[in-house]
Amino acid sequence: LTYSMEDVVGLCKRRGIIFPSSEIYNGYAGFYDYGPLGSELKKNVKDAWWKNFVMMREDVVGVDSSIIHNPETWKSSGHVDGFSDPMVDCKETKLRYRADQLFYAPVMVSGEAEVLGYLCVQEANEADMAKEAKKQAKALLKSLDRKGETVQEPFDFREVVEATEAEMAQIPSPGSGKPTLTMPRAFNLMFQTQVGALSDAASVAYLRPETAQGIFLNFKNVLTTSRQKIPFGIAQIGKAFRNEITPRNFIFRSREFEQMEVEYFIPPGDEVWPAFHQQWIDDSRAFLLSIGLQEELLGWDVHEGDKLAHYAQACTDITFRFPFGEQELMGIAARGNYDLSQHSEGSGKTCSGVGTLEAFRAFLNSYAICFNSVGLEYYDEQTKEKYIPHCIEPSLGVDRLMLALICSAYAEDEVGGEKRSLLKFDPKIAPIKVAVLPLLKNKEELVSVARDLFDKLRRRWNCQYDAAGAIGRRYRRADEVGTPYCVTIDFDTIETDNAVTIRDRDTTDQVRIPLKDVISYLSERIDG
Ligand code: ATP
Repeated sequence: LTYSMEDVVGLCKRRGIIFPSSEIYNGYAGFYDYGPLGSELKKNVKDAWWKNFVMMREDVVGVDSSIIHNPETWKSSGHVDGFSDPMVDCKETKLRYRADQLFYAPVMVSGEAEVLGYLCVQEANEADMAKEAKKQAKALLKSLDRKGETVQEPFDFREVVEATEAEMAQIPSPGSGKPTLTMPRAFNLMFQTQVGALSDAASVAYLRPETAQGIFLNFKNVLTTSRQKIPFGIAQIGKAFRNEITPRNFIFRSREFEQMEVEYFIPPGDEVWPAFHQQWIDDSRAFLLSIGLQEELLGWDVHEGDKLAHYAQACTDITFRFPFGEQELMGIAARGNYDLSQHSEGSGKTCSGVGTLEAFRAFLNSYAICFNSVGLEYYDEQTKEKYIPHCIEPSLGVDRLMLALICSAYAEDEVGGEKRSLLKFDPKIAPIKVAVLPLLKNKEELVSVARDLFDKLRRRWNCQYDAAGAIGRRYRRADEVGTPYCVTIDFDTIETDNAVTIRDRDTTDQVRIPLKDVISYLSERIDG
């Protein structure tokens, strides 16, 4: 890649795509706001996904569930007990780190490796983290006045996450002689809140860390109201919240983000899921390409061994090569019937737990689920069999996809000897589809034709009217935010040919099109 994350973040800020949240209060780590162009882009990305996976498919329907569910949901799903990352505290700095994002640096002493201690490194990307670890180790050597000794390549801290407390204590740290980091411990990533006027244990609720559970909770409702038969899917787009220990890499890992998920319900059986799983991998990849991700930046990561969740039969990530490395863009998991079974069982338990006041309150809260707890089973009319359906789950982060789209579209070239940076967005997702430019801003005849055309075009697409500055500068402005077409109204338009010039962002080629044909010309290219 020829550009850095700083280029991308700078462009997003400068052109009103993405801002740090609460910026006037110095921001808030892990939270971002989408500006005028970012919110358009986001809407287009979500619309494209919904159109592809819901509108265009007869076997997928949508839901829009609440963000806060009955808290029993998260006990049944396993999130209360198991949705955590390993965390360590630095005793010196009082900062917290995700253990699997730390490095420790052994230092060569007379040819032998000596561990000087753990280094608290929290940097933008892995290459920077390693560099920072080395820098800290060197500074350490200097402060200990140990000249002539060299620093080895830092190790991934994950290698020592499994260490026992006794083993950790063996590792000396500089100065104090004691480890500067606590032992890794599980940190639950769910944000807690309280619901209702009473503030006690029974009122604790959670902001959802994924949209998927809202789908499972509605399985029976959708089944009985939408006349779908297995195999079929339920889709949802919405906010999710995770108290990430170290949010990083801009909107790649934030604490509030959006997900686009499908639960695709299929019959049980080891011979059944592989074909569906593969189909969803293929369909997901085709979608990503259709909205403009560069094929050469996409990759795979097939989960194996420990990486595969205990209940899952398979999981394949589609990865993307970001400026900070190749990372998960989305996951496509074959989840068995874990979730529906857990909710069948969990909602049943809540009903029988009535006895104490607390349990009674929990019972009232979960009444809706109890009502359905008769079983989240499916009766297959053809085979006359009853079963809890299995499912395939493609899960894609909206914000992560937006970052991938921006990185994929980011380009720099030269036009007429001048450097330009542009976003080569696919017209489907471009925040502004067309810019309308009268050659001069104070020539009434030009302006009136331009405004008239602008009013017609904006009924169909998000367009921009730009009359300020030299025409070349206006083209650059449009290129930089990824506007695929600029329509210029000049003196020939009003005096001779009743036609306009349409300029293509990527090739900078210009064509002359009669005014009456402008909409159909653009429509062919924007709407496909
Ligand atoms: P990671 O390993 O990166 O933490 P994960 O495997 O926990 O991600 P999933 O639970 O599978 O992620 O979530 C599905 C998708 O949701 C991810 O592929 C990603 O696109 C998106 N996502 C998850 N966590 C975040 C986050 N903190 N910020 C932005 N997007 C996220």
